Order: sequence, then structure tokens, then C-alpha cells
Amino acid sequence: MQGISENIVVGSHVWVGDPELVWIDGQVLSINGEEAEIQTSNEKKVVSHLSKLHPKDVDVPTGGVDDMTKLAYLHEPGVLHNLETRYMMNEIYTYTGNILIAINPFQNLSHLYDTDMMQRYKGTRIADLSPHVFAIGEAAYREMITEEKSNSILVSGESGAGKTETTKMLMQYLAYLGGNAASEGRTVEQQVLESNPVLEAFGNAKTVRNDNSSRFGKFVEIQFDKRGRISGAAIRTYLLEKSRVCQVSDPERNYHFFYLLCASPPEEKEKYKLGDPRSFHYLNQSSCYDLVGVNAAQEYLNTKRAMDIVGISQEEQDAIFRVVAGILHLGNIKFAKSEDTDSSVLEDEESKFHLQITADLLMCDPIALEGALLERVMVTPEEIIKRSLDPLGSAVSRDGLAKTLYARLFDWLVHKINNSIGQDVNSKCLIGILDIYGFESFQTNSFEQFCINFTNEKLQQHFNQHVFKMEQEEYTKEGIEWSYLEFVDNQDVLDLIEKKPGGIIALLDEACMFPKSTHETFAQKLYQTFKDHKRFMKPKLARSDFTVVHYAGEVQYQSEQFLDKNKDYVVPEHQEMLSASRCSFVSGLFPPLSEETAKSAKFSSIGSRFKLQLQQLMDTLNLTEPHYIRCVKPNSLLKPCLFENSNVIQQLRSGGVLEAVRIKCAGFPTHWTFHDFLTRLRVLAPEVTRGNFDEKDSCKKILEKMGMTSYQIGETKIFLRAGQMAELDARRALLL
Ligand code: ADP
Ligand code: MG
Repeated sequence: MQGISENIVVGSHVWVGDPELVWIDGQVLSINGEEAEIQTSNEKKVVSHLSKLHPKDVDVPTGGVDDMTKLAYLHEPGVLHNLETRYMMNEIYTYTGNILIAINPFQNLSHLYDTDMMQRYKGTRIADLSPHVFAIGEAAYREMITEEKSNSILVSGESGAGKTETTKMLMQYLAYLGGNAASEGRTVEQQVLESNPVLEAFGNAKTVRNDNSSRFGKFVEIQFDKRGRISGAAIRTYLLEKSRVCQVSDPERNYHFFYLLCASPPEEKEKYKLGDPRSFHYLNQSSCYDLVGVNAAQEYLNTKRAMDIVGISQEEQDAIFRVVAGILHLGNIKFAKSEDTDSSVLEDEESKFHLQITADLLMCDPIALEGALLERVMVTPEEIIKRSLDPLGSAVSRDGLAKTLYARLFDWLVHKINNSIGQDVNSKCLIGILDIYGFESFQTNSFEQFCINFTNEKLQQHFNQHVFKMEQEEYTKEGIEWSYLEFVDNQDVLDLIEKKPGGIIALLDEACMFPKSTHETFAQKLYQTFKDHKRFMKPKLARSDFTVVHYAGEVQYQSEQFLDKNKDYVVPEHQEMLSASRCSFVSGLFPPLSEETAKSAKFSSIGSRFKLQLQQLMDTLNLTEPHYIRCVKPNSLLKPCLFENSNVIQQLRSGGVLEAVRIKCAGFPTHWTFHDFLTRLRVLAPEVTRGNFDEKDSCKKILEKMGMTSYQIGETKIFLRAGQMAELDARRALLL
């Protein structure tokens, strides 16, 4: 960022790099050529090259500043220190221009979100009150009303950073602004709010990073009528993590609702043949069953009530519970080798028992279910043959069935919620709220991480375009002379991933369609095709791994399961058995394939479908005025009042916040209309504005009187350099 090393002298207060804290403050003791010796505030002496030091602003107010662009010296340590200072005072929100940074407090700050607070933010301008998620909701709502334009709020951050909590608060605030207090029965906003607990019960799970981690992406579109009242809503979800249904690693959990149903009242437990969650294979792979601070029995009742509110009938609820219980019993069916061949049989009496219960719960034919698990029908040009599966094949088939059932159930819930809330097709304006998984880079990264990071590349591009291009456009429109240096665009990564033909997704689809492909041939194809691509790397010694250089860093992907996970395929025997269910709910989840679709059996892939969904999302977002909230997780222990520098810096980098700060500040971070500027700063020179109706001229005179330089005056707005507004505000404060 700013390199002001020439201003550093003996006695200067500086920030110096630290292996643990990232940055530590100190004072220069001596300078020897290009090297400075620094006494750090934690009583160490370190030597550093002058160019690696950043000046420390000793005049920053003790409480920090509520907008990074008000920092006199804007650089990484300044930003970090400001966030930490505020965080330690429970000031969890800070602006960077119009981006809101929200740091997870990991403690209940309920006073921040009560009705009084909502009332305070209602009708105020963003800069007039301290930073808050309500201020962003307010800005989006006001812009929608005054400009009759749709708005969106994009909430991002890594798992556990607070995205879902933030979106809930936004929805609450919008319901407060646009609610219909008088109407009877279930109001739209009530249903929108209550859709959260339902979706969370089925789509959230405890992970290492978050006790209530959403395992799907979500875009909620809230529609408003002409009077600014909520008139409808639509929820779109993205990529539910299916593997969790049958695979859970310690100390994580499966989806919440499995445990809630096991904690239902005795008569319901009896009805669904449930008992201790420890008795189910899909749950007992991990030794974590309970969530701290959550009473499962109570939560079960809450979820049921929320289901009532969003319009899920008693019969539907009963069917849903049977499917959920059916999945648990299905998971307990075990397979063994038959005595004379390799083919699989049910392992024991217990497995037969669970098979019978599964069939009862799903209301399907137990013999068909057994057949669907033990055999596979092969269609060859000559004949149709039944081939027995081996025990491993049967287990894979069982898990596939469980995943498909669960995924269809989840889609049904989303669809149902949408139907019962109802869409307002006449609505011209909406506010969309996006709560989607942040960039992920783990020890092992599979197809899910690939899709998630692809999403983040897309959103990053949108963010870049918005923050940077819009800023540039505004300068041009206002006749300001300024052009940004080229910013790093990520179009090349996007091409690598989604270009058709030739991108990774297209090559993966090709591999999936070709029966002889393996993950190794797929990887070879990638190595060949992207040999010279600067965003692609073949890791040394790797045989089937590949690395993508994402905007937020390099991620090495393991291609082993890419082909399987990309195939969007339901085994025909599963399909047939379930579409024949005597329960209309279950058969409805598996509508019979029409003759045509069955015959053409067009290949469909998760990757391509996801890409399409994402494109539709981007198209929607491009029609809206976006607002950004970057959620930050201050530590990985999920503890209050603990701020880990290196953790936070990494998130600010991958969220594009530091880049935005840097580029914004290279230009004119503050733009104010003449009118707003005068309203705020007229007091600085009452004599120039008295009787002067030329607002532009008045602004100019104020700035001249204050001795400001290097600002610019556009057609309708004043453009100030970083820190200038803060200076004017300070002078104003002296007068007030
Ligand atoms: P994400 O959706 O980003 O994975 P969540 O929104 O689920 O993260 O937040 C994780 C946890 O952090 C929540 O369950 C809650 O305990 C805590 N949390 C997040 N935001 C807040 C907040 N504003 N106030 C209090 N606690 C919060
Ligand atoms: Mg979440």
C-alpha cells in the first residue's frame, strides 16, 4: 500500500512485520542505511528493511474509526489494528467505503438487534449512525423505494464467519420495514422468517468450523409492492452437500433433523421406529450427538411449528418424517458375501429387519427394495440382464439411494416453501440476499470445493466490477480526471473453469460421458490441455491432483471423486421402486420418467447444472444495485474477545477487502453530492452559503476556505481524497 518509508526517521512510530502477530507496532531506535532497528511494543528489538515498515498513525481516535477510508494512513496494519481495536470494544461492524465488515462476536449481543435498534436505523442515512447490518438493509430498502430499482445484499465469508446470522438479521429488518402488521393469519414476512428454521433443520449440520453450518447456498428474493410492503418471496438454493447424509466424520454431525426426530415425543418415536441416535450407522460414525445449548426435543417442536407456519400440512409432515426415518433405517442395512458366489446378500436378521422397516416407512415393496440394493439391471443391445452386486457395490447403491432421497426431500421443502409463501409476479422491485459458502482450501479438496471456489471466483468478479468499474464510471460521468491502474481481473480463472468448450467443467463432462474414463485419464487430459495456462498447475509428484491458482490463493484438488460426484444420475431401479410407492409424497419425489427422457437419457451433470444456476444468479444480480457484507471469523476457537491477526488478514485478502481498500484509496474514496456536502458542512463557512444558491460554488468556497487541495469537483458531486472528509468532520466537530 502506501510506501512512505522516506518519512521514517529515528523516533517514528511504525508497524513492523511479525511472524506470529503479522504486524506489531514499535518505535524506530536507529537507522543504518536501509535498515532500521525497532523497539516493539512487546519489548523486543527487531531489525527491518525500511521499505517493509509502515508508518503508524498515533492520532487515530482511541476507539478506532468506523470507516476505514477515514484512516489517515491506509495500509494493512492500519486496517487490522482498527478492526481489532473496535472488536475488543464489541464494535463488530466497520465500513470500508460502502462495504460492511462484520466480525463474528461469538457472544450474544442481543441489544444490537432489538426493535429499538431497528427503529433507530429506520429512515437514517448510512453515514449517520454507527456501522450496522441494519444500515445496509436500510440503504437497500431506501434505494429500492426511491430509485425503483432492485437491490441485492451479498453476504460472504468463510464457514462460521456469521453469514447466516447476518442474513437472518437483514430479513428481520426488512420485515420490520415492509411488514403488514395488520393482516391476518400467516404474513408473507412471517413465512419468510420461519422458512429459516425449516431449511436449517434439514440443510445445516455441525462441522468443525461451525455448530450450525449451512451445507447449501441460498439466495432469498424478497418482493415488494408499490407501497414498499413485502408482497412475496422466493428462495433459491445451491448445491446441498449430499455426502453428509451417509458419511460423517468425528466430531461433526449429520443434518440436524435426524437428531431432532430421534428426540421427538414417545408416540412419534414409536411411529417412526426410532430410538437412540447411537443405534444408526448414518449417525454413529461420529461420537457427537448433542449440540451445546440446544435441547433437541424442544427444537423438534420448534421445527414442527415453523413447518406449520410455512404451510407444510400434517400429512406432508408425517411423510417427511417417514422419509427421514426411512433413510436412517436404510443406513442400517448391511451386506455380506453369499456363501457360494461373490454376490451380496443381507448380512443378518437385523439387516432384514431394517429393510422391512425402511420399506414400511417409504411404503414401497420390500422385495423391490431388496432387489434394488442387491442387483443391477444391465441393458445391452441384445438383452436385459440382471447382474448381482458384490457387498461393496450394494453398500454404494444403498448410500446412493439415501443421498438421492434426502436431496429430493430438501428440494421438495424449498419448492413447498416457495409455493406457500407465493411469488408476487407483479412486483417490480425486490431485495435479494445471498448467503453462500466462502472460499475453501483444505488439506484435501474435492469436487465440492471446486464448485464452491468457482462460485467465489464469479462473485469476486462481480465485486471487482462493481467496486472498481462503477467507481471509474462515476468519475467519467462526473468529468473527473482519474483513471485507475489496471486491477487484477480474474477472467482467466473463470475461463479455465467454465469456458465452453475446453474449460475444466466441459472436460469433466466429456470424461463422464466416456465409459472408459477414470480420474487419471481426466487428470492427464487437464495436464495436457492447460500445460501453459498460468492459472493451472500440475503439482510435482502428483498423478491425478491439479492446482488452480484462485484469486484468493492456490488450491490443490484431488480428482479421485470428480467423475462420480459430477454424474447426476439416479439408478433406474431406485427410481422405479420409489415412484411405485403407495405414499403419494414419496412417489411424488420420483415422478416417473417420460418415455422420451428415459430413452434419450441425456447426460446431465452436476457441474454444468451448477454453472447454469450460477449464471442465472449472476444475471439476477446484474440487474440489481449490490451491497456487500464481508463476514470475518476472528478466531478458529469460536470464542468471544479473541482476535487472531493472521486469521483475519487471510480473510480480508480472500474477501477482496484489502484490494478494494487499496484501489479505492488510490482514487477518491469519498464522493458526496453538493447538497449532502453542504448539509453536513455548511457550518464550516456559513458566510459563503448565505444567499448563495449555487451549491457547486458554495462547496468550492468551503473547500478553499479550509485550505484543501487535490480534491475534485464533478458535475454533481465533490470527490475527496482519503482522509479529507475526516479532516473536515474534525473541523466541524470543533464548531458544533
Ligand atoms: P456462517 O453462516 O458464516 O457459516 P453462522 O451465521 O452460522 O456462520 O454463524 C456461526 C455462529 O456464530 C452462530 O451460530 C452464532 O453462534 C455466532 N454468530 C454469528 N454472528 C453473530 C452475531 N452477529 N451475534 C452473535 N453471534 C453470532
Ligand atoms: Mg451459514
